[in-house]
Amino acid sequence: MNESYWLLSSKSKKYKVLDEDINTDYLIVGGGIVGITTAFLLAKEKLSVTLLDADRIGYGATGRNTGKVTTMHNSYAKIEKKYGLEKAKLYYEANNKALKFIENTIYEYRIDCDFEKVPAYIYTTDENYIEDLKSEYEVCLRIGIPCKYYDGLEGIPLDVKGAISFENQGQFNPKKYINALAELCEKLGVKIYENSPVDDLQKEADYIIKTRNNNTINTKNLVIASHTPWYDGGLKLYFGKEEANCSYLLATDLNTDLPNGMYLSIEEPVRTFKVYNENDKKVLIIGGSDHQVGKGNIESDIYKEIEEFAESNFNSRKTITKWMTQDYMSFDDIPYIGHINSKEKNIYVATGFCKWGNTNGTVAGLLIRDLILNNSSEYEELFNPTRGGSYLSTRFMSFNLGVALDYVKGKLNFGYDDMPTRKGEGRIVNIDGKRYGAFRNYDGNLHIVDITCTHLGCELRFNSAENTWDCPCHGSRFDYDGNILNGPALKPLKKYGYGKNEVDPKLL
Ligand SMILES: Cc1cc2nc3c(=O)[nH]c(=O)nc-3n(C[C@H](O)[C@H](O)[C@H](O)COP(=O)(O)OP(=O)(O)OC[C@H]3O[C@@H](n4cnc5c(N)ncnc54)[C@H](O)[C@@H]3O)c2cc1C
Repeated sequence: MNESYWLLSSKSKKYKVLDEDINTDYLIVGGGIVGITTAFLLAKEKLSVTLLDADRIGYGATGRNTGKVTTMHNSYAKIEKKYGLEKAKLYYEANNKALKFIENTIYEYRIDCDFEKVPAYIYTTDENYIEDLKSEYEVCLRIGIPCKYYDGLEGIPLDVKGAISFENQGQFNPKKYINALAELCEKLGVKIYENSPVDDLQKEADYIIKTRNNNTINTKNLVIASHTPWYDGGLKLYFGKEEANCSYLLATDLNTDLPNGMYLSIEEPVRTFKVYNENDKKVLIIGGSDHQVGKGNIESDIYKEIEEFAESNFNSRKTITKWMTQDYMSFDDIPYIGHINSKEKNIYVATGFCKWGNTNGTVAGLLIRDLILNNSSEYEELFNPTRGGSYLSTRFMSFNLGVALDYVKGKLNFGYDDMPTRKGEGRIVNIDGKRYGAFRNYDGNLHIVDITCTHLGCELRFNSAENTWDCPCHGSRFDYDGNILNGPALKPLKKYGYGKNEVDPKLL
C-alpha cells in the first residue's frame, strides 16, 4: 500500500503490543481521530482509559485523508430535505464546535501540525450543476453559515461556472495532529497499544474483549472507534447501512500561483485540490476519482488520470507520493455516533463520516464524552446510530440489493487458467475449479490467496492502483498476501495451500 504525504512527513512514536490480560474502566478500540480524541477528552476527566489499535496510531483513514478541517460538507441541502432546517442547523453547529475544538486544542497545546486558516470552496465547471450549488447556498444562508456565492473563481486555472466559499476554515497535517494528541493522552495516563487487533467480545459481568493474539481486556465501557465497527451490536447491520467509498490522492510539486484555499468539485469525476504550506515549501494535494470500494474501473491506472489533470491544469511535473484511502458513507449524510444499540448503553460507536471525519470524528469524541459524563448530549438524537432514517430509505434497499447482485456476479467470475506473467500484475485465476487471487510481485514471486471475503463471502476484485484485493460488497480490503487493510472483515485471507477462507460465523 502506498504511503500518504502525512505519514511520510511526520515522525511516529512506537507504542508497545498488548501481551498480557488487563482490566480497564474505558477501552477504546481504534487510534484514528475518533479514538484519540475520545481518549484525550476522557483522560482530561481523570478516567482510566486504554486504547488499542490493530496497526499503528494514525495509520488508518486519519493519516491518509486530505487534511481539510471544515464545516463545508456539501450536504446541508440533503439533510434539510430529509430532516428539516433545525436538524441541518444542529449538524452545522456540532461540526463548527468540532472545528473550533481542533483549532483551540492546537493553540492551547502548541501542536505543530502546520495548521492554517484558509477558505474552503465547493465549485462546479459544469452548468448543469449550478442549480444544485445554488440550492446548497440557499440552505447554508437559512442555517446562518457565513458563506458567499461566486459566478467564477479568480486565480484558479479551471473554467469555474459557480462556487460557494466558507471563510475561516482550516487545514493541517492530520498525522502530526494525531501524534501530538496521542502523546498528550499518554501524559494524562492513557495506556496505548499498537499492533493489537481485537476480534471478539463477550458479555459477562463486564465486557471481555479478545485480541487476535489471545489476550483479554476486561472493561465496563467500550468505545468502538475502528472506522467501521468490528462488533455489530447484535445484528444492527452497520455494514448494511454504510457504503465504503474510496478516493485517490497525490502530493505534487506546484508550479503555478494558486490562492490559498481548499477546493472540491461537485460533479463527477470529483476533483479535490489545495495548496499545502509546509515551512517554506508549497505542495499541491490533489485527487478525487471516487468510487465504491471494489467497484468501478479498478483494473485501470486511476493515479495516471489524476496526474494528467494535475499536469495539464496546474503544471505539476513531479509526483512526490500517491495514495488511496476509504471512508464509510451513511445513507442520510449524517454519521452514526452514540450507543451501539438501545440495550448495550456502555458500548459506543462512531462511523459513517461521509469523508468529513476530521470534524465529524471530533464531534464523535465530544458527543461520546458527554454521553459518558452526563448521560446525554444535545446532538444525541441527530447522530443516533439506530435512527429509523438509517434503515428506512431507498438507498438502504438499493445498496443491499446491489450487494446481493455483486455476491452472485463474483461467483460467476471463474478467472483465468494461467498465472499473471508481468511483474506487478494481479488477476483472478482458476486452480482445480476453485477461484484464487494471484499477484506477481516486483521480485517476480507469485502470491496466491483465497479471495472469498472473510466477512460475508463475496468475491474480491483486484485493485491495480494499490495491488490489493477489494470487496465490492462491504468494502473490506486485503493486501496481496491476504492481510487485512480495512474492515469490516476480521480474519485475513488464507494463502494457497492452507485451506479455504471461513466466513464470519457470528454474522452467518
Ligand atoms: C480520500 C479521502 C479524503 C478525506 N479527506 C478528508 C478531509 O480532508 N477532511 C475530513 O474531515 N475528512 C476527510 N476524510 C474522512 C476522514 O479521513 C475519516 O472520516 C476519518 O479519518 C475517520 O476516522 P476514524 O478514527 O473513524 O478512522 P481511522 O482513522 O481509520 O482509525 C481507525 C483505527 O482503528 C483501527 N482498527 C480497525 N479495526 C480494528 C480492530 N479490529 N482492532 C483494533 N483496531 C482496529 C485501525 O487500525 C485504525 O487505526 C477523507 C476520507 C477519504 C477517503
